[in-house]
Amino acid sequence: MYPNDSKENWFRGQGNWADVPAEQWNDWKWQLRNRLTTLDDLERYLDLTLDERAGALHANKKLALAITPYFFNLIDPSDQNDPIRQQVIPKKGETAVAPEELLDPVGEEGTSPVPGIVHRYPDRVLFLVTDRCAAYCRYCTRSRLVSNAQDYNFHPEYESGLEYIRQHPEVRDVLLSGGDPLLLSDKKLDHILGELRKIPHVEFIRIGSRIPVFLPQRITPELCEIFKKHGPIWMSIHVNHPTECTQTLKDACERLAYAGVPLGNQSVLLRGVNDSAETMKALVHRLLMMRVRPYYLYQCDLITGSAHLRTDPRKGIEIIQALRGHTTGYAIPQFVIDAPGGGGKVPINPDYIKEITEDAIVMRNFQGEEYSYPLVAQAGAKLDKNAPEPVPLLV
Ligand SMILES: *Cc1c(COP(=O)(O)O)cnc(C)c1O
Ligand code: SF4
Repeated sequence: MYPNDSKENWFRGQGNWADVPAEQWNDWKWQLRNRLTTLDDLERYLDLTLDERAGALHANKKLALAITPYFFNLIDPSDQNDPIRQQVIPKKGETAVAPEELLDPVGEEGTSPVPGIVHRYPDRVLFLVTDRCAAYCRYCTRSRLVSNAQDYNFHPEYESGLEYIRQHPEVRDVLLSGGDPLLLSDKKLDHILGELRKIPHVEFIRIGSRIPVFLPQRITPELCEIFKKHGPIWMSIHVNHPTECTQTLKDACERLAYAGVPLGNQSVLLRGVNDSAETMKALVHRLLMMRVRPYYLYQCDLITGSAHLRTDPRKGIEIIQALRGHTTGYAIPQFVIDAPGGGGKVPINPDYIKEITEDAIVMRNFQGEEYSYPLVAQAGAKLDKNAPEPVPLLV
């Protein structure tokens, strides 16, 4: 069991904001208005390290600083290495640029036919509908445009994006992303989802959002009605550490699930946050308990200023190896590297194949024991004379 895996840890109350009336605390607009966005805001509640002070001073030139009170409350102020803290409080390292790092690490610009659309895979597109998020992850792959701190000047134009999708019958899958699509008003979301549903070739609509984690209050009954109306809408949330699995998040996931939204999770492997098998195991178990199926575990992209958060990719392989066979299959995400420069997501797996000989595949199971399976059915296998005649399949 994970050391902090107690029921009490699932709910930390209002913490620093204990005197705020519950109805304000539970109002997503209050949470947004009261985000911590400056060095002063942070220092009111937390003793920052020198490294973090420097980071906070520079943050707004790279990726805006913003943390919702709800999410900030999950930080243990006595722990400088707190896993929530590492994700949202900037460090000086963000201003450094390692030689392998890129502004657009997975080459999205090269596959963007119109602003806001990334069309890398033949049958599906990424549709970036906003550059804003409820809070900002310091390792964000899209920090070149997200929060508009780098003068990228991203102006999402839904209409040209929608028009592109209408004109491309090969697009059967649309992934709304950003920024965070759930920051749009109910009205805009209703409009975009409605327009997408009208396109006959769009079979599958999904949303990538960290709002349930940063701002679970946004998952209102009204929003859920919109998903129900245009469903099935699938959603990938973004949880990195078991501490994020609060009762409040669990309730939000339940509302989504009851509205018919299948939930997946995408985590980013981050140094000092979740780069251990024990932490990952606690995380995926909690996700299942919240009706969320772990989907991808990403190797951290080579985004500029991320060296202090990145891990050796072999760590990811080790973590998957520690999960496969050792826990529920549903709990195991696919570890991927989004190939630098624009190759797309490549699955990275532990090697269970020892060798493929002329006639068999020789493999190792989760305990390292060897087994083999023949490559082709053996010729001359004896048929059972008493077996009934095969019944032709109906087509
Ligand atoms: C991740 C991604 C998708 C979705 O990939 P799936 O493996 O289907 O989840 C689509 N387009 C782009 C550009 C992506 O980066
Ligand atoms: S929520 Fe997503 S888009 Fe927004 S900062 Fe985090 S990783 Fe980037």
